Parts: sequence; C-alpha cells; structure tokens
Amino acid sequence: MFSTLSDRLTSTFKNLRSKGRLSEADIDATIREIRRALLDADVAVPVVREFTASVRDRALSAEVSGALNPAQQVVKIVNEELVAILGGESRGLRFAKTGPTVIMLAGLQGAGKTTLAGKLALHLREQGHTPLLVAADLQRPNAVTQLSVVGERAGVPVFAPHPGNQSGTEVDDVIGDPVAVARDGLETARQRQHDVLIVDTAGRLGLDSVLMQQAADIRDAVTPDEILFVIDAMIGQDAVTTAKAFEEGVDFTGVVLTKLDGDARGGAALSVTGVTGRPILFASTGEKLTDLEAFHPDRMASRILDMGDVLTLIEQAEKAFDADEAAKMAQKLESGQDFTLADFLVQMQQMKNMGSMKKMLGMLPGMGQMREALENFDEREVDRIEAIIRSMTPGERDNPKIINGSRRARIARGSGVTTADVNQLLERFAGAQKMMRQMNKGGGSMPGMPGMG
Ligand code: GDP
Repeated sequence: MFSTLSDRLTSTFKNLRSKGRLSEADIDATIREIRRALLDADVAVPVVREFTASVRDRALSAEVSGALNPAQQVVKIVNEELVAILGGESRGLRFAKTGPTVIMLAGLQGAGKTTLAGKLALHLREQGHTPLLVAADLQRPNAVTQLSVVGERAGVPVFAPHPGNQSGTEVDDVIGDPVAVARDGLETARQRQHDVLIVDTAGRLGLDSVLMQQAADIRDAVTPDEILFVIDAMIGQDAVTTAKAFEEGVDFTGVVLTKLDGDARGGAALSVTGVTGRPILFASTGEKLTDLEAFHPDRMASRILDMGDVLTLIEQAEKAFDADEAAKMAQKLESGQDFTLADFLVQMQQMKNMGSMKKMLGMLPGMGQMREALENFDEREVDRIEAIIRSMTPGERDNPKIINGSRRARIARGSGVTTADVNQLLERFAGAQKMMRQMNKGGGSMPGMPGMG
C-alpha cells in the first residue's frame, strides 16, 4: 500500500539530505515535489493545499533553520503533519454504557461492508464480546446469504429475515423491510444478551437518495453508537464526494478503509479524515476475516515515510502465533525429541497465519528499497510445501528417511508438483532439522522459520 507515494517522498528527502543548510528555494522545491507526489496519489486538492502550506510554514521557521540537521527536521515535520491529516490520535470503537453497542456499516456497494461485518464480528468475539450480525442489506439478492456465510466463518450468529429468497419472486417482496429487520435485530440482541450488534446495510453502485434515506431510517431505528463509513481505498479522487455525501446523509462517526492491500495510491486514506474530520478506526487489508488492523495515524505515517511499522508487525505476529503450539514445540525439543516434518508443517501454518509475508516485510523499516525483491517473493511456495507434506503418510512425516524413489513419485503426484520439488523440500528439511539439533544442544532456544531460505 502507498508504495508509489512512499517511494516519491523518500526520494525527495534523499535529495534534501545531501544538502547541509536549506535555503528557501530548497524548501520550495521540496514542497513542490511533495505536492506533486500527493496529487499523483489521488489525495484531494484541498487536503494537499492545507498540508503543503503547514509543512512550508514550519519548514521556514526557526524550528528548521536552527536545527543541527535541517533535512531530518523537515522529514520530522512531514511525518507530524501526515499524522495530523490521518487524524492525530488513534481511536478505538466506542461502546455503549448500557445495553448492546450498535455498530452500523454504511458505504457504496462493493466497498467491503459485508466482509468488514465478518471481520469486526471475529475481532470483537476474540476480545470476549458476544456480537450479533444483522443482515439489513436486502437490496442485493445474495447479500443475506453472504453475511450468513461470513457469520458462520467468524463463529458469530446472524439475524436475518429469511434464509434467502426461496420463492424466486422479487427479493423485496420476500424479505421485506430493512428498517424493520434492523429494529428486530436490536430487539433480538437485547433478548439474547448480545453486547454488540453489527448492522450491515445496503449500498448502491453510485450515490443515490433512496439508499441514503434508507440508511438514515435504519440509523433512526437503532440509534447506533458507531456509524462506520466503509470506503474502498482504491476509489481515488471520488473519495471526497462520496465521503461528503455519506456525511450529509447518515453523519458517520468513523471511517474504515478497505482494500489497503491493493496497490491503492492512498488518496482516500489521506483525504477522508481531512475533509470530514472523522477518524479512521480500522484498515482492511485482504479478503480473509483476519485481515483487519486497528488504524494508528502515527504508524501509518511511518509506513508512508518508509520508517516502518514495527508495532503493527509485532501485534500481528502475536495474534497469529499460537502460544500453546510454541510451548509444545519448545518442550519437545528440550526433551531431546527430533524436529519432524509434522512440526515443520505446523510452523508453516503459523507462518501463513501471520498473513502475507510481503505485507509483513513491508512493515519493517527501510523495506521500501527492497520492494522489488519483495514483489518477486512467491507466497505460493508456502502452499506448495504444505501440499507436499500433506501428501505424505504419518510414517513418512515422522521418518523422512523411508521416502524412497517410488514414494517420492507418489508424493509428487499427490501434491501436483515434480519429484525435483519433493527432493528439494526434503533437502531443505534435512538442513532445518540439523539446525534444530544444533540449536537444541546450544540451550533450547526457540526455533526460527526454517525452510524459507
Ligand atoms: P459490500 O457490497 O460493501 O458488502 O462489499 P463486500 O463485502 O461484498 O466486498 C466486495 C468485494 O471486495 C468482495 O469480493 C470482497 O472479498 C472484497 N474485499 C472486501 N474487503 C477487502 C479487502 O480489504 N481487500 C481485498 N483485496 N478485497 C476486499
């Protein structure tokens, strides 16, 4: 995400660093480049104007001229101003003091509302809440089914009028009134003591007054604690018009950016808070239910300036890493048992849980320069290794030495790879196993990530 903007800004600063003192002309040239980079990233014009004006004012002040390293000082200012347009402080969800907390999702069709409903449900459930999802998107024929699927995957119940359109007549005739559904959903949440209600609403492809009125009616029926405006980060310059329409139509309390995993130019992220003053609460970074991050303006600014986002990286790793498995593995190795292919598989899966390697590595400081190498990283490699190990019998996983030529051919066939791939994995595993044995002798430190060499 933001890779082009990030590259442009970092190269601007690189030019600046070669200078000792900064003249007004140097600063103006820098500001011009920043302005161009932001506009090319689809950041809204008024936001760009305000941003560059404050950076310029501050860069020309004593703050910079008196500094030991003026270029670094300018980077610091840009960082602080980026944090400011991204909303300053991070803000989490606000919960109701009594009764269920109502979270309503609004946004255009395809923005990612239904997916987000599932992600939030899972996120809240993991925090010990007992959410109920409400399918108040009765516009799209399969929206109710889609939410049911998502709810099931998140392990969260879904309140829906009917299980889809069974009679084959007009959807609206069959499943009725979204406002009533939302109201009944809230009543059900109260009765069944769910502490959070997540209301998915309908979106249209474009802005539309009927849709907006419906969203406002749902809002009035359930008086949400949070109205989250869901916006696709790839929407570009339209972000501002869309955000303003939803601000007027339903008056949202917070923003969720979706599809930040794509090669979005980032304009939406940098504009919406700027023009509406509403904070971004979450960033959605993929199609899986776990691809949701709390949004922290300071961390996002660090990412854009390629200063890395180590904190988010650590949080994701902690979430994905199964502490029980890790403890079991450590115990096993300490007791002198061997590291097996089955253990290797468990580790691979943990790595996959940690999400895309690219995404993870992209959060490390200075990774911008390695972006090209990252682009070439083939994540399917992990899937291939998993498939190969899965095609082995338990006996083979425990003792790979028994895997002779004909077994190799069978495993290759079973996993859809070549025998050479199987050979390569077995060699790599033998190397990893040897390393584990040595580490184990050296005092039982935690295993790393073998196999990714
Ligand atoms: P809705 O119409 O607003 O409910 O949008 P959906 O939740 O149905 O999402 C539309 C499409 O975008 C679906 O194909 C989702 O899988 C996809 N999608 C949603 N969020 C993300 C995201 O963060 N990243 C990516 N890559 N795809 C997403």
